[in-house]
Amino acid sequence: MHPSYSLMIHGGAGDLDRLADPQQAAPYLDSMRRVLEQGRQLLAAGGSALDAVEHCAALLEDDPLFNAGIGAVLDEDGRVELDAGIMCGASLRAGGVAGIDTVANPVRLARALLERGEPVLLSGAGARRFAACCGFESVPDGYFLTPQRLAQWQAARCAQQPGPDHDPPRPAPDGRGDRYGTIGAVARDTRGNLAAATSTGGMVNKRCGRVGDSPVIGAGVYADNASCAASCTGVGEHFLRTALAKTLADLIDFKGLDAAAAAQQGIEYLARKVAGRGGFILIDHAGRCASARNTPQLIHGWIEHGGATCCRL
Ligand code: ASP
Repeated sequence: MHPSYSLMIHGGAGDLDRLADPQQAAPYLDSMRRVLEQGRQLLAAGGSALDAVEHCAALLEDDPLFNAGIGAVLDEDGRVELDAGIMCGASLRAGGVAGIDTVANPVRLARALLERGEPVLLSGAGARRFAACCGFESVPDGYFLTPQRLAQWQAARCAQQPGPDHDPPRPAPDGRGDRYGTIGAVARDTRGNLAAATSTGGMVNKRCGRVGDSPVIGAGVYADNASCAASCTGVGEHFLRTALAKTLADLIDFKGLDAAAAAQQGIEYLARKVAGRGGFILIDHAGRCASARNTPQLIHGWIEHGGATCCRL
């Protein structure tokens, strides 16, 4: 029995210049703290890492500030298509759903898939049918849409630029000025079990039917008690091509690195292999928290070994 628990959450990586203004940053940091405190209560009471990451991810999905659930970004047709993945480090059971547009909390649908055992990944109409079978209520039309996302999408359409979340689009020939979103949670509970969850609306103005890294096990989300729990954010194609979440786990499992060293090598690997941009959070098997990014910001927060709540941009 491990006496302490650890928890990390994130609200996306990117070029969030406006968050240099403390007034603009405050709602994001407040939301992080609120979610971490709810996760703390659950874990301190002996709750499982899997329940904690599902709960924290669902709370972030319900917050329109973030690109997941309500307030998600829009695709090229002006529609919401949500992706989410969740994994249990004790059993390596996992669930991923893609192209979701009727369920308020895609991470809960992914959890239902995990509990069922197979398939691991479900998309579109099949996912919709699975949700109905499991008793998930369909949200009303327009539930996910916020005025901010509509304006962001219109700007992206004018610029003919598909791109990551946060802020209006602007030319970014050198990769600077990228804007990312997505939310994620990773935890280790008092029994030493790890879990990870990631949920997203994907990229602004993305191609209809495009699936990013977030629901793909080993790309945007991964957990194994032998190594770590990881949740990624950034340009999904970069994380898919490098299987980045599993690469982080391998760095710990096969090279014996701790969370901080794996984070450093992982972000270098992402840049070196595919000039990838983004960030991630991870907790290793000993409950050590780490994060890395190669974007100016990564909205994230953590509680290490049951200690103080910390939040950073
Ligand atoms: N990784 C997500 C995707 O490509 C987007 C993000 O993290 O902002 O769908």
